[in-house]
Amino acid sequence: MKNSGIILIMEEREVREIVYGPVHSWRYGKSLGINLLGKVKRICTFSCIYCELGPFSIKEQKELYAINRSVFVPTDLIIDEFKKFMDKDFDVITFSGAGEPTLAKNIKEVCEKIKNFKPDKKIILLTNASLFYLDDARKDILNFDIIDAKIDATNEEFFKKINKPIESIKIENILTGIKELKKEFKGKFHIQIMLTHVNLNQVEKIANFVKKIKPDEVHLNTPTREPWKKPLGTQVLLPLKKYFDDLKVRTPYD
Ligand code: SF4
Repeated sequence: MKNSGIILIMEEREVREIVYGPVHSWRYGKSLGINLLGKVKRICTFSCIYCELGPFSIKEQKELYAINRSVFVPTDLIIDEFKKFMDKDFDVITFSGAGEPTLAKNIKEVCEKIKNFKPDKKIILLTNASLFYLDDARKDILNFDIIDAKIDATNEEFFKKINKPIESIKIENILTGIKELKKEFKGKFHIQIMLTHVNLNQVEKIANFVKKIKPDEVHLNTPTREPWKKPLGTQVLLPLKKYFDDLKVRTPYD
């Protein structure tokens, strides 16, 4: 069916491999990607307006949502794939891929095994923080070196507008979950805020929450890739650092 632009884009977009890259990250350098969700279009608790895995039709978005934690790819298969890449030139290993990595119940096991193979490389988790309110999900990620959690809004109205979460996920759960994780996690904790013209007027409110959390770094990001290639310019993004007082704030324009 090639009767709309949306479907055309989707068909041309390749699904993520289980291990991919290394790709260049403005925050972390050469990053080898680990995708615990398998060769799927997306499995996520959100459907963010700027998601580079999308866009999808409304019907498809519903099918791509998930809330239940599960094993999507067996650990041994992931490790076998990882071994094929482990001698490549990369700086860090990043769990990201085709959706929300904390949905994968074997995240802890995979992280531990990869650490044994590459103890000298930092292992990073990119997450939307939507499952932090679950005790088992938080326990499963405590052995990462860096957790980089997304927060694009602090109230329900903007949360729904920009992240389009699954019905049962509320912004209050996320804010509480982030506070809990910050108490328990001993590694470096980073917050990423994806700013678009939709949530630009929420920066001060987000900053007020973030300042209480005291992360090691704040990343003010803006979408530079399709399908939402409408990044905020340097002159808009850089002055927003002032809202975060003395926290370490980085942007792609630094
Ligand atoms: S949280 Fe990430 S993977 Fe999920 S919809 Fe948003 S951008 Fe896409």
